[in-house]
Amino acid sequence: SVTLDTAFFRRFLARATQVFVAEAAHLTDLDAAIGDADHGANLKRGFTSAGRVIADEAPATPGALLTAVGMHLTNTVGGASGPLYGTVLRRMGKVLGEDPVVEPPALGKALTAAVASVRRLGDSAPGDATMVDALAPAAEAYTSALADGGDVVAALDAAARAAHQGAEATVPLQARRGRASYLGERSIGHQDPGAASSAMLITALYEATD
Ligand code: ADP
Ligand code: MG
Ligand code: MG
Repeated sequence: SVTLDTAFFRRFLARATQVFVAEAAHLTDLDAAIGDADHGANLKRGFTSAGRVIADEAPATPGALLTAVGMHLTNTVGGASGPLYGTVLRRMGKVLGEDPVVEPPALGKALTAAVASVRRLGDSAPGDATMVDALAPAAEAYTSALADGGDVVAALDAAARAAHQGAEATVPLQARRGRASYLGERSIGHQDPGAASSAMLITALYEATD
């Protein structure tokens, strides 16, 4: 299995950054179809510069690390996704607190709380074709995999699969929040960029396990 220590969450953030850099053009293409063609660029810039912040500050606990990155994203990434992703990481950091090693159920509580915070900030619910459609099933799948006796690796694997399914499931949905909602029915038939990137973020958590 894996220890959910600060090194684990550093691997998670490094992996997420790597993926957002590699997939920036793809994410921006998704946003070009139903938004303003900046989602990949926003995340690439935000996570890359966050990496410099945590190299300088060297936060000592998982909670401090996620809080620092979340604050950076909220403060520096424009658009909707900066504050929304910032809220995800800040809320996770707050729930994880000062513990140097996170127990698997605490990560489930952190993910569940992060989903609630995004829903509150964005006034969004599952089915609105937003990042919530990837994040909410991920938090649920993680929690039920642990409840079924799975270890943290199995639970994060389940979470990543659920997130990707949730992102795919936004294709036939009409967007109800964010810029894509301005298109009305014309948003139908396109994957939500934030759901796609959220699935990548959850996959980065799973990939940090090895
Ligand atoms: P912007 O739309 O400001 O250009 P981005 O393109 O970076 O910002 O991010 C767009 C993504 O943000 C959307 O695909 C969606 O997943 C997410 N999003 C936008 N508004 C909301 C909201 N109110 N609630 C939840 N997610 C949202
Ligand atoms: Mg955009
Ligand atoms: Mg924008």
